[in-house]
Amino acid sequence: MSGKNATEVLLADAQGIARAAAILERGGLVAVPTETVYGLAARADSAEAVARIYAAKGRPDFNPLIVHVRDAAQAAEYAELSEVAKSIAGQEWPGPLTLVLPLREDAGLAPAVSAGLPTLAVRAPAHPVMRALLEQVDFPLAAPSANRSGFISPTNAEHVLASLDGRIDCALDGGPCEKGLESTILAVRHDGSLEELRPGPIDVVALKSRINAELVGSADACMHDGSIESPGQLASHYAPGKPVRLNALAPEAGEFMIGFGEVEGECSLSSSGDLGEAAARLYDCLHQAARSAAPRIAVAPIPDEGVGRAINDRLRRAAA
Ligand code: AMP
Ligand code: MG
Repeated sequence: MSGKNATEVLLADAQGIARAAAILERGGLVAVPTETVYGLAARADSAEAVARIYAAKGRPDFNPLIVHVRDAAQAAEYAELSEVAKSIAGQEWPGPLTLVLPLREDAGLAPAVSAGLPTLAVRAPAHPVMRALLEQVDFPLAAPSANRSGFISPTNAEHVLASLDGRIDCALDGGPCEKGLESTILAVRHDGSLEELRPGPIDVVALKSRINAELVGSADACMHDGSIESPGQLASHYAPGKPVRLNALAPEAGEFMIGFGEVEGECSLSSSGDLGEAAARLYDCLHQAARSAAPRIAVAPIPDEGVGRAINDRLRRAAA
């Protein structure tokens, strides 16, 4: 299984998906495209398989994983879905929204999945490859981002291999990820209130106005690194391994410039100033900057609205 051998790269067609399902079945590790970033999947009901995820990523064991399911009915086998949670899932799933819900006592998942917490992070993804895989197996898939812990998330198969080649069994190549940022994480509390634990492609402020629920906090307000409810909250994360200067209007000597809108660069997030395009391109630009000879990185200002909030959140942590 995962070890010194090179990782098998499979085209994400029916044959590749069937082979990946067989590898997962016997407890292996498979990198899978999702609409957010590439996930590193393993069966969530096997302690050995889940332990391999932590080992391959070098992930600290206090950092819980997101469990991927087909739909809300499957989620309800592992977590308690309140009326509020059901209504949110009904509107947003399948899609890039993770819900943190009370873990069911009879969930039967590997305890390491939730890192011993009484809650479970669960999501029904929209990407056709991940969905096809979930249809073919009879267990849920634990899948954090398919990168070494702390580094930039992968938005194509090449990024996965740059980080994990030889450490995982297989990577399904399904092309670039559409959203390009990790899912929004939203905790649904016992009293029905909501707390955004990580901003992402789903705008929780807009979601809240569609749902009859109170938003008690947002990730912007809590960049704590003491007690960690969601390590997306860690001050340093998504790090390219070089100093990053934010809100730059032009490069200084030795900087790889990442542009946006009118601010030009070696790599532009979106020359037309489109935030969705910028989100989709963010990690690829950071990977290019990390690979370049330049010792430092500069990034143009990004408007702090809509998915721009999530982009700025990741950039702050890349710069921390
Ligand atoms: P990754 O997929 O690598 O971005 O990691 C999964 C994210 O989900 C991490 O930020 C975790 O902290 C978060 N997460 C997973 N389970 C929980 C949970 N039970 N409560 C809060 N956050 C969670
Ligand atoms: Mg990650």
